Amino acid sequence: MEQIGQIMKMTTPVQSGVDNKPNVLERCNVCGEPVKLELNFLGIPKKVCCPCACEKAKREKEEQERRMKELECERSRNKKYSLMDEKARSATFERLTVTEDNKKYILAAKQYCEQWEMNKRENNGLLFYGKTGRGKTTLACCIANRLLDMGVAVKAMSINDMIQRIKDSFDNYGNDGETELKGEIKRAEMLILDDLGAERKTDWSAALVYEIIDARYRSCKPTIITTNLTISALREHLTDSAGVARAYDRLIEILSPVEFKGDNFRQRISEKKNYDFFKGVGT
Ligand SMILES: [Zn+2]
Repeated sequence: MEQIGQIMKMTTPVQSGVDNKPNVLERCNVCGEPVKLELNFLGIPKKVCCPCACEKAKREKEEQERRMKELECERSRNKKYSLMDEKARSATFERLTVTEDNKKYILAAKQYCEQWEMNKRENNGLLFYGKTGRGKTTLACCIANRLLDMGVAVKAMSINDMIQRIKDSFDNYGNDGETELKGEIKRAEMLILDDLGAERKTDWSAALVYEIIDARYRSCKPTIITTNLTISALREHLTDSAGVARAYDRLIEILSPVEFKGDNFRQRISEKKNYDFFKGVGT
């Protein structure tokens, strides 16, 4: 249409305004709008095609389909590079068995996904803690899969997996490989780090954990961490040989702790981050 507009502007009004009107050569037999016109272009008659209403609708539909395909590609790319294993990939809200004990949790986790834009904006992360077998990892994976379906670039892995992957990428590709993988983990829209505290603590692993948590803090990107440790044991685990708990301090600034109990789920309100995981879910 712009092209026609341009040509129209360039047509010479040698004759009267009426005579200068484009001559309709052909109309669409569906909508009745012109599809072929004859214009007076610098004194020379020129035939041009123009889209009718059906043609415009068709183009719009194609454009929409193209955008949908792009989004679908983006989603499958995110899934492919989410670093999740098969078991984690199959954990979805739809497959969970709802019980009296876990109901509140599931609702709150779904709500967290529904409020993703706000949680992203406010960097609301979560620290799922409690004894093993309470469903922390499963729920974190359900959140990961729901967010992936929404087109969010999620990276999810266990702490030991992360350490192993970073070591492997260094062994295989040197500093560049290590830096690239770390960069992906730091930049992901959502990072889910499972089983923090299960790793063998070394100076290197402690420095790595701090580096990742600090990067998430600085870039304001939400993180969900699960741990079988109690809050005080986690603090202890993240305290370095000089007695400084800087990784823990950083972590608690961006994550709201949520305690997982078998019979009663309560949230321990952090002094720093206080996103209310259960708000609006009911008791
Ligand atoms: Zn038409």
